[in-house]
Amino acid sequence: MAEQPYKAVLLFGAPGVGKGTQGKILGVIPGFHHVSTGEIFRALDKNSELGKRVMSFSSHGELVPNDITLQVWAEHMASQVDAGKYRLDKDILLLDGLPRNIEQANLLDGYIDPMRVIHLAASDEDAMVERLRRRAIKEKRADDANENLIRRRWDIYRAETQPVLDHYPSDIITEIDAIGTPAEVLQRILHDLVPMLSEQFGNAFDTTEAATKL
Ligand code: ADP
Repeated sequence: MAEQPYKAVLLFGAPGVGKGTQGKILGVIPGFHHVSTGEIFRALDKNSELGKRVMSFSSHGELVPNDITLQVWAEHMASQVDAGKYRLDKDILLLDGLPRNIEQANLLDGYIDPMRVIHLAASDEDAMVERLRRRAIKEKRADDANENLIRRRWDIYRAETQPVLDHYPSDIITEIDAIGTPAEVLQRILHDLVPMLSEQFGNAFDTTEAATKL
């Protein structure tokens, strides 16, 4: 369990909707710290027992079991805190890819203080599938290469992940249109998050600390 809850903004949305792209861009803004469960899993040693077990689910488009997911994520967070990369008293965690079902949302309640939920919404499933196909070529991701696997991830999203939105109070959820260029979508997200960031830090931003991040 965390010593104090991680102040968090949840990036929420279907596969291919751009959570990772936006999370990475937002994560370089001083005061934010981006953590993606998909990235944590892909960084595991593929020859380790844990790495093999995770791959046995993710390479089929299935969710990794909840206990493994929460444990791996919590250990990653603790290492980020120990390394001084995530400052418990200051930074806002941008959480990308967690929670993905109701049980994960319940487990996560013990760790985070959810400040906002950014729901990246895209009505055009075909456009998202096309984005993932292009990503498969660029990033050599096995789970993006096959259309059946992509559709399977969308089905799981609809059945298990979408209901998670009801777990959070509606007044902290913002729905953002995910169709557009990365800069356009970023502008929409910043419109929502900048006032929150200003409120959190006020004029107390330490510019030397900020500079070290860039
Ligand atoms: P996408 O959003 O395109 O599905 P991610 O990089 O977020 O891609 O996740 C890749 C894979 O990692 C998922 O398909 C799933 O197998 C696994 N994964 C990521 N986050 C979770 C989670 N919270 N719970 C279970 N499995 C997860």
